[in-house]
Amino acid sequence: MRAHIHISYVSAVAICCCIWSGCEGPPPNHCANWWYYWKEGGVVQDMDKVKYLWNPGDTLGVASPHKTQDFVGVSDLALDPVDVTYTFRNFYNIDKTVTIVRPRDGGIDGVAEVIAHEFKHVWIYQQWGARIGQTGTINGQRHSDGDAIPDIVELDRTGPIGQYEFSPQDPDSYRLVRYNPIYERYGDNEILARVEGLDNPRQREPQKDWSQGGKQWGR
Ligand SMILES: [Zn+2]
Repeated sequence: MRAHIHISYVSAVAICCCIWSGCEGPPPNHCANWWYYWKEGGVVQDMDKVKYLWNPGDTLGVASPHKTQDFVGVSDLALDPVDVTYTFRNFYNIDKTVTIVRPRDGGIDGVAEVIAHEFKHVWIYQQWGARIGQTGTINGQRHSDGDAIPDIVELDRTGPIGQYEFSPQDPDSYRLVRYNPIYERYGDNEILARVEGLDNPRQREPQKDWSQGGKQWGR
């Protein structure tokens, strides 16, 4: 039933998506069928908290703590399959490595990963109240490098974050800048979000995924 409604949108998909401007919002319902369909059907957990990213550039998702804590943005790019692995090494301890990209199916799997990733950025902000780039004492805790993780947390080798051995003086201890220049400012923060997305993606229900190109498409 829902699948039929969905199919009627398909022919218009290519035409409309580039004439809109702005960062996030609801797409016209003949665009980004997945966004409406997965939201309405509960196909991916927390889709009700996802806004549609209009002008993503190369961005799969966004978290904007200064705007809202309740929503994240996800773009069409999150639906692309991934077939590579990227692992980075701690600049200060070459024995420490972390994988930030792993192969995955496209579609709901990618969106489930990106939602979990972006909400981890929100979680980090909620814990300590610092924004990316903010330094000094924030809520009583020292932030030297602007990655929004307090120095004391980065230095606590017994804690779940301390295990990465981030430098409190360096926002990008693993040199994620080589993956994307934006991470020069918050690579350490990004690693926590990447690991969350990979290890704890949001729940999804592939048996309900009748969207275009989805897990049940064409069956
Ligand atoms: Zn991120």
